[in-house]
Amino acid sequence: MEIRYRSTRGNGQTVSASEAIIKGLADDGGLFVPERFASLDKSLEELAQMEYKEIAYEVMKLFLTDFTETELKQCIDNAYDEKFDTDVIAPLTEVDNAYYLELFHGATIAFKDMALSILPHLMSVAAKKNGVDKEIVILTATSGDTGKAALAGFAGVEGTRIIVFYPKNGVSVIQEKQMVTQKGNNVKVVGITGNFDDAQTGVKNIFSDKELGARLAEKGFQFSSANSINIGRLVPQIVYYVHAYATLLREERIKAGDEINVTVPTGNFGNILAGYFAKKIGIPIRKLICASNENKVLFDFFETGCYDRNREFILTTSPSMDILISSNLERLIYFIANENADLNREMMSSLSKNGKYDITDSMKENLSDFVGGYAKENEVAETIADVYKKTGYVMDTHTAVAATVYRRYREENKDTTPNVIVSTASCFKFTRSVMEALVGNIEDKSDFELIDQLSEIANVAVPPAIEEIRTAEVLHDTVCDKEEMVKEVLAFLN
Ligand SMILES: *Cc1c(COP(=O)(O)O)cnc(C)c1O
Repeated sequence: MEIRYRSTRGNGQTVSASEAIIKGLADDGGLFVPERFASLDKSLEELAQMEYKEIAYEVMKLFLTDFTETELKQCIDNAYDEKFDTDVIAPLTEVDNAYYLELFHGATIAFKDMALSILPHLMSVAAKKNGVDKEIVILTATSGDTGKAALAGFAGVEGTRIIVFYPKNGVSVIQEKQMVTQKGNNVKVVGITGNFDDAQTGVKNIFSDKELGARLAEKGFQFSSANSINIGRLVPQIVYYVHAYATLLREERIKAGDEINVTVPTGNFGNILAGYFAKKIGIPIRKLICASNENKVLFDFFETGCYDRNREFILTTSPSMDILISSNLERLIYFIANENADLNREMMSSLSKNGKYDITDSMKENLSDFVGGYAKENEVAETIADVYKKTGYVMDTHTAVAATVYRRYREENKDTTPNVIVSTASCFKFTRSVMEALVGNIEDKSDFELIDQLSEIANVAVPPAIEEIRTAEVLHDTVCDKEEMVKEVLAFLN
C-alpha cells in the first residue's frame, strides 16, 4: 500500500516518499505530510524483542513505501553502526522518577544524529530512484546542533554539497567549534549576523525563489533540506519513541498497552511531532508534554490557541531551542484542522504577514494530546544541580528544560503515568552552562578546563566528538548579513 505525500498548503498534487525527501519543501512553500498513517504490523510484544535497527525498519517501511526492503535495510545498517558509542543506540536510563531517553550517543553528541546519520543515505537512494542527474545542494539553517550533525552526515557523500548557516552569536562555543572545524571538499559553514529565525527564513526564501532555482538547475544543481521540514528527518525520529516503548516493555517496567507520557524539549517542533506520529501508528502515548525555554511561544500557543511570534528573542542556555517560528508546528496545524490545507495556508500567511494567527475552537479541541510547559533560566540550572545532587546524573541544559517542566507537570497534575524525558544532548556540548549550574564561579576557566572538570564530576569520559575539536584547525570563518545568504550560496557553488 503506497503512502504518498501532499503539501500542508495543498496544491492537490501528491509525491512519493522519495520525491518528498529530495524536494525537502513542497513547491507552494508547505511541508510534506503523509496522506494517511499505516499502523505498526508487529505487536508491541514482538517489538519488545527487537533491536534498534529492526524497529527502525518496522517504522520506516510504513512511511517510505517506495523504498525496497533491501534499500531501507541498507540505509539503516549504514546509519546505526559504530558511529554510536553504544549498541543499544538510544539507551533509556531511570533517574529521579523518570526515564531519560538518551539520544546523544551518535557522532556529534546531540539528538540530530538520530536522523542525520541516515538522511544522506536515504537521499542518495531517493536520487537514484528518481533519476536525479543534478548535484544535490543541502541548505541548512541551524540553531547549533543540526549544522554539525548534517555536516558530519553529508561530508564526502558523492553527488551532494552542503552549506550551513548558523547565528554567529547564538550558539555555544563548543557547537561553533564543532562546525567551523568541519573537513570535506563539499562543505561550507557560514555565520550570520542574526538569530536562528533569520537563518531559517533566509533558507526558506532561497527554496521558494523559483528564478534562482531555475538558474541553478541550468548549472546542474538542485536544492534540498536537512532541516526537520524534510520528511526524511522526521520519519527516522519516530523510531526512538517506538524503541523507548519497546524497551520499557522488555524490561517489564510497563505492560503491553500501558500508556506512557513523553516530555520533549522543543524548538522547531520536529522531535515532538515525531512522537505524535508514533502515537498515530500505534504506540500508546497519553500526553506529549511540550517543554519550552523562555522563548515560550509554544507554551502560550497551547494555553491560548494564539501563536504569536511578536516578542523579544531571548538568548538562553539552551540555544538549540531559541526559536520563535517553530516550522514543524505547521504539520500539526494541518492535522488539527482535519487536513484542511486552505485553513492552514491562511494561518501561515498570517504568520508571515502579522507574525501571528489564532486557531479555531474546533482545532483547539484536537490539541488534547498535548500539554505545554516552560522553564525559566534559574529553574534549568536548579534542576541540573538538584538531580546531580540526588542521583549523580548530569544532564544538559535542553534536557533540563524538559526535566523541569515534567517535574512541575507531575506535581500539579498528580499524573504518575510512566514518563520518558527525551534527552537531546550530551552535557559536554553545553559545558559552560552545566558547570555554572553545578559549581559556579567559572568565569576565569577555559571551555576545555571545564570539560575536564565536568568529566570528573559526572564520572563520564570526555566524548571523542569533544576530544576531536580540542586542537582542530578552524576551516570556516565566513560571516555575512542575513540579506547576503544568497550571495554566499552562489559563491560556494561557483
Ligand atoms: C534541535 C534540538 C532541540 C529541539 O528539537 P526540535 O525538533 O527542533 O524541537 C532540543 N535540544 C537539542 C539539544 C537540540 O539540538
